[in-house]
Amino acid sequence: MQLIDGKEVAAALRREIATEVAEMVARGERTPHLVAILVGNDGASQTYVGHKEKCCGEVGFRSTVLRLPAETGEADLLDEIERLNGDDDVDGFIVQLPLPKHIDEQKIIEAIDPRKDVDGFHPENVGRMVMGLPAFVSATPDGILQLLRYYKIPTAGKHCVVIGRSNIVGRPVANLLSQKGWDCTVTMCHSRTENLAEVVATGDIVIAALGKAEFVIADMIKPGAVVIDVGITRVPDPQKKSGFRLVGDVKFDEVAPKCSYITPVPGGVGPMTIISLMRNTLRARQLR
Ligand code: NAP
Repeated sequence: MQLIDGKEVAAALRREIATEVAEMVARGERTPHLVAILVGNDGASQTYVGHKEKCCGEVGFRSTVLRLPAETGEADLLDEIERLNGDDDVDGFIVQLPLPKHIDEQKIIEAIDPRKDVDGFHPENVGRMVMGLPAFVSATPDGILQLLRYYKIPTAGKHCVVIGRSNIVGRPVANLLSQKGWDCTVTMCHSRTENLAEVVATGDIVIAALGKAEFVIADMIKPGAVVIDVGITRVPDPQKKSGFRLVGDVKFDEVAPKCSYITPVPGGVGPMTIISLMRNTLRARQLR
């Protein structure tokens, strides 16, 4: 079994981006500028935005975080998005999800200029991605593909079972892996899938993105399969300073010995997600 080290891959890609940015600066070009809008005080969202801000600094991007109060109205947020759409100084921006309940997330996503939608959530980018056209691909699916590419894991003709059909992970990664170049035969599972364990056990590549801690057990995994664990669940742990630990969707200790490759949680897909956001932002800058 080989551990897929997301931190190592992310560090290598981070160095590549930093080199490109340094070259841009040397040519007298403006550095890429990423803006994150954070509405409210959700702890996990604050942590994620903090990580994105730090990564921007590491690759040489300019970053701005707009912190708005939880009671910000939908119309005010739409005004802010309109302003960023028209701001020539901003190459890409993201609205950190989830948003407070009184704001319609879909309306917000659709208000973002697709050329600045570096999260790749706008229907125009999703549609282009599905058709195999150049698009901003959402960060987690792109991060998973980068891991498979870095470890040269064969995908052509392999049966890939994706557990989860969300718009941000399951559905896009299933679609991308079915496209030419990746050439997997893909099965996408969800909460209504019958005989889920049997279906998963036929996967040469299993991508677990359902958000249920340690759901995937050894009996569900074919010997030699590649297992990508996307899930992140906070489990209370009094031993930790934070009071919790992060657990994936895969029961790592019993599944790992059966796999050819496996991602750990944390340190697998997570670090890649931020890097893919940086890659999209660099591309947005280059396209403008
Ligand atoms: P989500 O929107 O809640 O979607 C979960 C999907 O899993 C749904 O399609 C759901 O089916 C399916 N599902 C739930 N229970 C199931 C079961 N018992 N059997 C089969 N399918 C089941 O979640 P998400 O946003 O895709 O995120 C999934 C996990 O990945 C979460 O733990 C999240 O924190 C994590 N995540 C990690 C990263 C990262 O950077 N590492 C990024 C994004 C998300 P239905 O459609 O039928 O309800």
